[in-house]
Parts: sequence; C-alpha cells; structure tokens
Amino acid sequence: MTATPAGGAIELQGLRKRHGDAVAVDGIDLCVEAGELFSLLGPSGCGKTTTLRLIGGFDEPTEGRVLLDGVDLAGTPAHRRPINTVFQSYALFPHLTVADNIAYGLRWRPGVDRAERRRRVGEALELVRLTKLAERRPHQLSGGEQQRVALARALVCEPSVLLLDEPFGALDAKLRKTLRAELRTLQRAVGTTFIFVTHDQEEALEMSDRLAVLDGGQVVQCGTPKQVYGAPRTEFVADFLGLANLLDVECLGPAGDGRASVRLGSETLTATCTDAGTPGPGRVVIRPERVRLGPADAAGENTLTASVSQVVYVGATTQVVTRLPNGATVQALVVNDADVDDGLRPGTPVTVTLPADAVCLLER
Ligand code: ATP
Repeated sequence: MTATPAGGAIELQGLRKRHGDAVAVDGIDLCVEAGELFSLLGPSGCGKTTTLRLIGGFDEPTEGRVLLDGVDLAGTPAHRRPINTVFQSYALFPHLTVADNIAYGLRWRPGVDRAERRRRVGEALELVRLTKLAERRPHQLSGGEQQRVALARALVCEPSVLLLDEPFGALDAKLRKTLRAELRTLQRAVGTTFIFVTHDQEEALEMSDRLAVLDGGQVVQCGTPKQVYGAPRTEFVADFLGLANLLDVECLGPAGDGRASVRLGSETLTATCTDAGTPGPGRVVIRPERVRLGPADAAGENTLTASVSQVVYVGATTQVVTRLPNGATVQALVVNDADVDDGLRPGTPVTVTLPADAVCLLER
C-alpha cells in the first residue's frame, strides 16, 4: 500500500450525545494518537458504537467536539472525513466481485484514474492475502475472507483513521483469534490509526496499544492494556477485564510513593493507590496470577497465613483458592510448568503473598 497520509490523531472533547432522555455518550474526553490501535471496550449499551458514529460523522454530538489532527470536524459530513468504517456486517455488495467491492470507494475519487485504481486494488488484495480470490463474489467467501474484503475496501481509500465496529462479531471464536493477530500485523504495516470497538476484553487486551473502558457513556479508565488490567482503578474495570480478587480493607493512610497502608483482617499491607490514600474503608484488587503461594512458615512484606480451600486443575494452570484467617478468600493461579506434586490439597496451611505493586486500592 502507498504511504498512509500523515496524521490521524483523534481528540474527543466533552463529547455528549442524547437521544431524548437517554444519554448514550456522557462527556467523553479522549486523545487517540496518530498510528495507534486504540480500543473502546465496554459492555453492551455503554456508548461504544455511538462514540464511533460521532467520530465517523454519522451522528452529530449534542455537545462537545471531535478533532482530527487538531481540526474540528463539526460540519464536515461523513463522506468528506478522511475516516472509513468497517462494520460488523461488512456491508459488501453481493453482485460485485471482491476486486470491484474493493475498488468501489475509489470510483469517485478525484485524481484516481483506472490504472491507479487497479494498482491500489492490487496492493490492497495483497495486503489482505486475497489476490487469488479477486474474481469471486462475496457469497463464495468464508466469513473471515469477507471480513478481509471489508478491511481492504476501507483501507484502499487510504484514510487517516479507520473505525472498526466489532469487526469479528459474526465470526466463530477460533477465527476471531486468528484474525486478531492478522489485524494487528496489518495495522502495523499500514500505520493508519485504528479505533476498534469491542465488548470482548481479551480481544482488546491482546490487540490494543491503548484502550478506554467505557461504562454508562463515560470513560472509566484509559491506558495501555497492562496498565488497565494490572492496576484497575474501579471495581467495574477490575471485574470487566478478567478474574480479580476483591478484598475489603481499612485504609490507614498514605505510605509514600503512590502507596497506602491498608488493614486486611489483623494484618497490615502496603498497596498501590491512585488517590490520596485517605483513611477509611475501601477495597483492594489483585489478579490471581500475581498472588504468590509459599510454605506455611514463609514471612515477608504482604505475606499472610492462609489455608487451601480448593484446588482446580485447568490444564496450563491450577486455580488454588485459599482462605485467610478473617474468612476472605484469595485465589491464586499457578502455572503448571513441571510435573511435580506441589502438595496443595484442601486444608494445607500456606502463605499468600500479595506483592505491593500488584495489589491496588480501588478508588473510593
Ligand atoms: P452494543 O455493544 O450493544 O452495541 P454500545 O456500547 O455500542 O452497545 P450504543 O449503541 O452506543 O452502545 O448505545 C448506548 C446507549 O444509547 C444505549 O443505551 C442505547 O439504547 C442508546 N441509544 C443508542 N442509539 C439510540 C437512539 N437512536 N435512540 C435512543 N437511544 C439510543
């Protein structure tokens, strides 16, 4: 593909969309950098599609602005924005061949003659590895191939930004996994800004440079997958992004360096926190794979005595549920990397260590 036009940075400022009494998007401020693969992640009805439609120009915001490379897009209709969209349904023309479907968007492009069109379509076909199927019609393609045609058709116009609304939604789980990796590679190759909408946390974590978690039309957290997964700021984010141990604590106060002292039962722990660490009741979260299990006599920072209450073998890992003296349960995920009996049975006394950088005090 020829070089993507420079730019492609999207900024949303105080974006709001109301439908009568219903608020679909409730004041979103967000910056997507040029060339990023950025995901909007959240449950059904959280405002993902509406946000995408506002960026694409298919809907007008009730309040706020959408900027592309610093330029306000208000008043610029969808077809004049250098932004293309891949819909879940692909919306391919059934009577056109693959090549003609891809060429379609170029027909009315000024300065793109027949030879240039053929060249660009050829490149796009190569990019999505469909050169051999160029003369087929959509009904002669698999779901994954149709999805790649839709992508090629959007990319052939060389947009600054590509919007993808649950593009794998119609495909089975195995194919979705393959296409994730393909899409990621393709995005890196073309360098276009991709804004990807999904309700699938695994998809968003695996593919994105950064992501925003939405709830009730608002961004609840934004960051790299590692930041958001590893240090969720709210219970909603912690829960939505995967397995999480949530524990009631009493915050004792700040401990310096972005940390706070918290009391869990009769033990005092150090936790990472993003607020001021104000004393009072709260909750901490830690992912099961960050919990360390040790022998009953182990000691150290954030190391608590516990006993095993359940052991579930799940192939690559074992889930070990432990119970703390105060009755709270902490689940640990242990990688099964050796064929040894670790001696973990219900009733076994152990210690659990909750590393301070992995245990986060949630916003209160
Ligand atoms: P899904 O994952 O189910 O597609 P979503 O996160 O994309 O959901 P949106 O489609 O953006 O959610 O909708 C956000 C909210 O706004 C929902 O509660 C929806 O019912 C409401 N909504 C969206 N479009 C309209 C409309 N045209 N009229 C009234 N309410 C609407």
